[in-house]
Amino acid sequence: MHSPSTPAPNDIDLKHLFESQHLTSTSWRTSSTADRIVRLKKIGVWIKNHQQEIRDALKNDFGKPEPETDLSEIFPVTAEINHSIKNLKKWMTPKSVSTPLPMFGTSGSIYIEPKGRSLIIAPWNYPFNLSVGPLISALAAGCPVILKPSEMTPHTSELISKMISELFDPSEVTVVLGGIETSQALLKLPFDHIFFTGSPSVGKIVMKAAAEHLSSVTLELGGKSPAIVDEDADCKDAAEKLIWGKYVNCGQTCIAPDYLLVHESKLENLFLEMKVALQKMYDPHFKGIDKSPDMARIINDKHFNRLTKNIEDALSKGAQLVFGGNSDQHTHYIEPTILSNVTDEMLVMEEEIFGPILPVISYTSLSEAIAYVNSKPKPLALYFFGKNSEQTEKVLHETSSGNVVINDCVLHYLHMQLPFGGVNNSGIGKAHGYYGFLAFSNEKGVLKQRVGLNNVTLLRPPYGIKAKQIIASLIKWF
Ligand code: NAD
Repeated sequence: MHSPSTPAPNDIDLKHLFESQHLTSTSWRTSSTADRIVRLKKIGVWIKNHQQEIRDALKNDFGKPEPETDLSEIFPVTAEINHSIKNLKKWMTPKSVSTPLPMFGTSGSIYIEPKGRSLIIAPWNYPFNLSVGPLISALAAGCPVILKPSEMTPHTSELISKMISELFDPSEVTVVLGGIETSQALLKLPFDHIFFTGSPSVGKIVMKAAAEHLSSVTLELGGKSPAIVDEDADCKDAAEKLIWGKYVNCGQTCIAPDYLLVHESKLENLFLEMKVALQKMYDPHFKGIDKSPDMARIINDKHFNRLTKNIEDALSKGAQLVFGGNSDQHTHYIEPTILSNVTDEMLVMEEEIFGPILPVISYTSLSEAIAYVNSKPKPLALYFFGKNSEQTEKVLHETSSGNVVINDCVLHYLHMQLPFGGVNNSGIGKAHGYYGFLAFSNEKGVLKQRVGLNNVTLLRPPYGIKAKQIIASLIKWF
């Protein structure tokens, strides 16, 4: 995305911009808690004063309903700001550690220092939240930032650029607008940290580029997050939660339940309750879900075509339509669609869906559902609906995923005390609150030794009998 006011930066511009942040990165190492809080607060104030502009930008980009923008774009950022301001002093304070006996006479502590110049690359699906949220963590940690928002949401990306240019000097924080080429040009620079949110396939490109300079990375990726609805689940409760979690942002959510694994005894009841929930939430006056002001639209033609092809492919291979199936290319509307009789041979089970299609697979025993999850790459989130605590523990212990939510979905994103992120294919590193702060920080282990004679003096060469005895006892006792 390049409007006349924002010409595409070339490699030399970018290098210059990057160099201009060097001094900031060293001077911000000693920035106080108060300095950093000032930076966070001014973003908070700007957001408060421009809330309607943010809503309008999201509405223009993909018809996002205003309450959804408030809840999922603005609130997570203001919560991140407030949580960071409240805890920053504690996070920044060096922490002492206990001294193991062989280290007697020394003291150990952990100093937290900013990693330095950081690159944030953001996706389009929560374009404000996923650009500004990591920026809050970077600024809390004391890092200057070059931020590249998504080219697919031009209104929101322009607005973020405006916000940052009003609040920061480019040597502190700057927004670079552009698409894949710009992203790749930025990735050539030796950043101290790269925080990328996007797809696993681009995550691999980012990690390869980072390896060139041994830049550290946080990769917030995606994938297929399953929801298991077990034998004793409350179908009405599960259906209402799943429908909201799936269809918020029109299913274009990294942690949306991608597919359902449902105990065979619950299948019919769950389908019934999901239909009731869809009607209640998106079509209470029976005018059609396409008339609902609360349903966002698909981001662009490319994704619209991909998703409708997924539905056609599934139906042609024997899937059954439980709900939906209609679409309108002109308005990028796809009706919430629930599919049963789904198999692994269908496109919907091959890739992350990232849209309003919900495939359902039934199982006869929980072990079978767990084995299915474990046969796939580790998901970003796993949801379990059921009341039995043994079954719950079984899922928690026998599966691996970035996060787990029991008897709900998606909600963990808003919990500032929990690390958020994936594992392997769904991500590397964690975000939010203290974990986001740590992503942009180097935990520096510091050991202080006394001057002159100390217990290590005895271990120096020439190695006499005494030294050998001490070394032998170290191995034996510690
Ligand atoms: P994407 O990976 O296509 O793009 C993300 C960013 O990378 C964009 O800014 C884009 O310009 C840039 N980019 C794209 N291709 C590139 C390339 N070849 N080289 C360098 N940079 C490139 O992702 P998207 O379509 O914007 O977002 C959807 C994906 O993001 C989904 O997989 C979703 O699950 C994931 N996601 C993850 C989280 C999370 O927190 N884990 C949150 C939101 C979205």
